[in-house]
Amino acid sequence: MSSSASGAVNGGISFWYADDGLPAVREPLSGDASADVVIVVGGYTGLWTAYYLKQAAPFLRVTVLEQKFCGYGASGRNGGWLYNGVAGRDRYAKLHGHEAAVRLQRAMNDTVGEVVAVTEAAGIDADLYRGGVLEVATTPAQLARLKAFHEHELSYGEQDRELYDARETRERIRVADAVGATWTPHGARLHPVKLVKGLAAAVEALGVTIHESTPVTEIRSRHAVTPYGTVRAPYVLRCTEGFTASLKGQRRTWLPMNSSMIATEPLTDEQWAAIGWDGRETLGDMAHAYMYAQRTADGRIALGGRGVPYRFGSKTDNDGRTQEATVDALREILVRFFPSLAGLRVAHAWSGVLGVPRDWCATVTLDRATGLGWAGGYVGSGVATANLAARTLRDLVRLDSGQGGRTELTDLPWVDHKVRRWEPEPFRWLGVQGMYATYRAADRRERLRPGAESSRLARLADRVAGRHS
Ligand SMILES: Cc1cc2nc3c(=O)[nH]c(=O)nc-3n(C[C@H](O)[C@H](O)[C@H](O)COP(=O)(O)OP(=O)(O)OC[C@H]3O[C@@H](n4cnc5c(N)ncnc54)[C@H](O)[C@@H]3O)c2cc1C
Repeated sequence: MSSSASGAVNGGISFWYADDGLPAVREPLSGDASADVVIVVGGYTGLWTAYYLKQAAPFLRVTVLEQKFCGYGASGRNGGWLYNGVAGRDRYAKLHGHEAAVRLQRAMNDTVGEVVAVTEAAGIDADLYRGGVLEVATTPAQLARLKAFHEHELSYGEQDRELYDARETRERIRVADAVGATWTPHGARLHPVKLVKGLAAAVEALGVTIHESTPVTEIRSRHAVTPYGTVRAPYVLRCTEGFTASLKGQRRTWLPMNSSMIATEPLTDEQWAAIGWDGRETLGDMAHAYMYAQRTADGRIALGGRGVPYRFGSKTDNDGRTQEATVDALREILVRFFPSLAGLRVAHAWSGVLGVPRDWCATVTLDRATGLGWAGGYVGSGVATANLAARTLRDLVRLDSGQGGRTELTDLPWVDHKVRRWEPEPFRWLGVQGMYATYRAADRRERLRPGAESSRLARLADRVAGRHS
């Protein structure tokens, strides 16, 4: 951890840990072992999977192996948007039909309520506030995209979504230049670390064994290999998301995309009064290189965006350390949105990685022949999706082991989806750098030359990236 030129803490994994404290690390694995299910890593996906498996079948021996400590990855660093977005839905509509994608969307809508209900029942206080998701447009081109996005979401059955003009938007939040917004009730703000710590404790209380400081070097059929021993189990579930490339044989499976955040000092009551934001909605925009933000329980703004999108060779960051240029860029977004906060200090900056499959579609899979399963590729919307993926992994394991039948979840279109791998370097690096440089140029162009049409540059970048549906 260090200080940046602005005096902000830089790295230290995330602001959320500075706020809630780093956890005591659990004992590592100490020799070969066996289990019924071994879950590689302790983020939301792995911990929710352990939770639901034990709830369904308390006799199962479930072991979690985590390289550092539960919540070291994106689950301890994210923006705390618990919301109903799922990566790849439109492509699943093309592959499996609109009705199948509507089922996936409904399952995601329900997932927000599921996480709220289960955390309450388990006594986890994660600063949850169910204010929905508000996405604003600040240019004519963004407004055109916002309206199209709004209509598109309605076509997936979101009849409770609302569209606001400039005046209605201002009544909710005073974002400079806002010309409209769309709001969905299917979202909540949370404190990521309080959730992941609470989940790890809840899972342990159910009888799951968690070994931390235990890096897994290789996963193969019925084996999870670590420097301290091998755990054998009929099912080995890989929940490594943005870190997947570090496993043997997985370098080009999912690209580790970087996302960076800042958290400000707490705002004064006067500053909040000038901004509004009483509904505490999670806040996003319609830029191509979009931003995301939340009003924290202790009255700060935590705001994120892309920064350096990708490190050559699928490298991940160093405990969240973030380039100064990225911290400055995020601060600029904050001040562009809320000019009255120009003097507000940034208290903390950090980064993390999320997993991006070649076709930008999240997946859940259990290979019956090998007992190997995995879930992830959430492309930045994994806080709620990890919970749905975990319940789906539970059902797939129960189906395969004869403890359960097919369920609504095992029939969702993202189950067993196959996708090709990313290109070797340097093409991977060049492609992602080029894509984000193009998005930024498109955003700049839309701000400087306001017209209602989205920049063609951005549409081209989507196509090249394989991101269009
Ligand atoms: C800065 C940032 C902001 C985000 N904001 C949001 C948001 O607001 N809303 C949203 O929906 N999504 C958001 N996301 C994405 C979301 O956080 C992730 O999709 C989600 O947390 C993924 O959870 P996971 O358990 O699958 O993976 P992770 O939480 O990344 O867990 C992976 C774990 O694997 C461990 N590990 C890695 N390699 C090994 C190994 N070899 N052996 C053992 N353990 C290993 C790591 O230590 C880590 O704990 C954000 C992501 C980032 C980085």
